[in-house]
Amino acid sequence: ERKAALTAASGPGATSDGHKVPLLANVGGPADVQAALEAGAEGVGLFRTEFLFLDDSSKAPSEDKQVAAYRQVLEAFPEGRVVVRVLDAGADKPLDFLTPGDEPNPALGVRGLRSLLDHAEVLDTQLRALARAAEGLPVYLEVMAPMVADRSDAKAFADACRAAGLRAKFGAMVEIPSAALRARSVLQEVEFLSLGTNDLAQYTFAADRQVGALSRLQDPWQPALLDLVALSADAAKAEGKSCGVCGEAAADPMLACVLTGLGVTSLSMGSSALPYVRATLAKHTLAQCERAAAAARAADSAPEARAAAQAVLSGE
Ligand code: PEP
Ligand code: MG
Repeated sequence: ERKAALTAASGPGATSDGHKVPLLANVGGPADVQAALEAGAEGVGLFRTEFLFLDDSSKAPSEDKQVAAYRQVLEAFPEGRVVVRVLDAGADKPLDFLTPGDEPNPALGVRGLRSLLDHAEVLDTQLRALARAAEGLPVYLEVMAPMVADRSDAKAFADACRAAGLRAKFGAMVEIPSAALRARSVLQEVEFLSLGTNDLAQYTFAADRQVGALSRLQDPWQPALLDLVALSADAAKAEGKSCGVCGEAAADPMLACVLTGLGVTSLSMGSSALPYVRATLAKHTLAQCERAAAAARAADSAPEARAAAQAVLSGE
């Protein structure tokens, strides 16, 4: 019965009153593409390109090797949208040739875009490989940078994309509270935002995502995190640009409704969550999602926010 309900709910993501919310997949490489297609993903909202770099942590893979891997993912979504994140090395994903080994606090150190700006040749090779991989394909390519802190980071990334001759939309991940607080300023340089709620929670609550004892503070239902999501989505709306979510928060069906109510324009998640998010979204109107979002933000803790949203969405 559950299976029948899920099959019936296939197709593009939308609320019951037809407000469209594209449902995209998070993939780590070509091996994840089949599952994304089977789950009915409308594209890829987060292609974590780290996988390619993990084989040999002493140097970057060649441009040709990168082109082949990127092309496999792009070819799987003809006419679809694929958002590629440039290499996010450091902290929980260290690479010998990029990551300083002597940092006292790697999560607050040289990671993500910071290490790419220190190693321009690595970023340039990756951007050139992406440009070559997309050549001749009808795919709608978007490229984004992890760990953007401010407008100057966003500009440095956009400049590198232009210099590489990339014909794609350039975006910034919002994973650092400063980027959410000044989202309109970041949006002067890039065309879209994508909220990485895993890191955004880590940096908002000063709670290392790898420390299990702090899981309470990593809960994406925390009202303070929802406030930062709202700031980002409002800024994107004011600038006429999009603001998606690609962190784990999007995989929680009820939270996906709340994020929609906060004004997020697409949701990207691990493929296994897609059918459940699609089915739950399809049961609620946009106005209900907005009321659930307001109720969650009015709460003082994650459990209270969850209960408040649940009450609205179940029509209590
Ligand atoms: C995030 O931080 O939410 C995110 C999507 O990126 P990653 O989990 O790969 O750091
Ligand atoms: Mg992240």
